[in-house]
Amino acid sequence: MTHKPSVLICGAGIAGCAVAIALARQGWSVQLIDKQDAWRFQSSGIFVYSNGLSDFHALGVMQAMVASGFEIADGRNVYLHADGSPLVDTFYPGVYAGQRLPPILGIRRAEMHRVLAGELERLGIQVQLGTSIDALHSDAQGVDVTLADGRVLRCDLLLGADGIRSRVRELLWPQVQPRYSGFGVWRSVHRRPPALREKIMMMAPGLRLGIMPISHEQLYLFGTVSAAADVWHERAQWPALMQQAFAVFQGPVRPLLDELGPASEVLYTAVEEIIMPAPWHKGRALLIGDAAHACTPFMGQGGAMAVQDAVVIARLLARSSIDAALADFGRIRAPVCQFVQDVSRQVGITGAQSEPGAHQTITQAVADSGQQRVDDFYRRLESLSAHDLAAPA
Ligand SMILES: Cc1cc2nc3c(=O)[nH]c(=O)nc-3n(C[C@H](O)[C@H](O)[C@H](O)COP(=O)(O)OP(=O)(O)OC[C@H]3O[C@@H](n4cnc5c(N)ncnc54)[C@H](O)[C@@H]3O)c2cc1C
Repeated sequence: MTHKPSVLICGAGIAGCAVAIALARQGWSVQLIDKQDAWRFQSSGIFVYSNGLSDFHALGVMQAMVASGFEIADGRNVYLHADGSPLVDTFYPGVYAGQRLPPILGIRRAEMHRVLAGELERLGIQVQLGTSIDALHSDAQGVDVTLADGRVLRCDLLLGADGIRSRVRELLWPQVQPRYSGFGVWRSVHRRPPALREKIMMMAPGLRLGIMPISHEQLYLFGTVSAAADVWHERAQWPALMQQAFAVFQGPVRPLLDELGPASEVLYTAVEEIIMPAPWHKGRALLIGDAAHACTPFMGQGGAMAVQDAVVIARLLARSSIDAALADFGRIRAPVCQFVQDVSRQVGITGAQSEPGAHQTITQAVADSGQQRVDDFYRRLESLSAHDLAAPA
């Protein structure tokens, strides 16, 4: 009888669930653990563009996500000035890697997880909640792992899909630490007025505020501010602080900001990055998703990079040895993830310029060349991802 390869996946977020689905389908023995004892999400909603959706499609879960999210079928992104007057419309691509896909999907993070968890259940994979990794030893043939619940196990491959504060990374690359970006992001969830059907981005000096539908009933606001590294806000103050931070905005966000109150679902996140050169493996342990390359959120690409990592490592493992797949993974994925990190960071820095003259130059550039920038970004992403896109041999 041939040996059935085994994988332990630490972290059942987007990357962890996606890679568990892909490897289980390829006949691997999959164990998936998460340190949370019950599901809680550090975000209300998420949006995914066509490139990320192409990978959810490859996993067979895209249609279910589209059914419970909100698709922007024409890909329209409406830019407005802070007073609500129109600046320009741009359109995100609905074709990626030759495939027709929804250009943008907004979805509640919990709904995305429900779809992924449903697929795991169909494949007979149980997520073991409430545990983490205490210690590990990775050698040329596999990894010995001691779990926080005391169990000791050996697997052929360990995947650290445990996000920006990865325990696997801490154990193997203790010198790599999250780097604060200088930005905080405010998010809030609202009932969706029927007329709000597009993704909207509003710009004021030093501030950006967006609207994105995440279901037929709900939308979320997301706004960026510059903030010192050690800023800390009392949770009870979040709705009022979000209102204050974006007080200058009018137009379609005004009634949404006005309705913020103590019962509102509001979240503040200090944005961090992981800047870590590849290779992202040591022996038979590999980091994927945010654990290896957490990105600022200004291109809305972190989730896409996480699911793409999952699909790519599974494809590589399907066609070569584990060691060759791990070596190829960093070589193939690092240029893509670094490109996204660099563009996203630059978008954040540009949007943070608060002098009126600089702001005027920025809005003029968005009006003049916003569409060109979108097209260039996706063209470059597609060309850098050419290896990712190759179907299994
Ligand atoms: C403000 C903000 C807005 C964003 N908006 C978007 C967006 O619109 N679109 C988009 O594509 N991306 C967005 N992102 C990025 C996106 O959320 C991440 O890139 C994505 O969630 C990464 O997926 P992941 O599976 O690698 O990590 P995570 O989603 O963080 O999942 C990690 C999992 O590992 C578990 N875990 C952590 N530590 C341990 C441990 N020690 N042991 C076991 N389990 C552990 C966690 O509980 C979690 O379930 C945003 C990020 C931020 C900060």
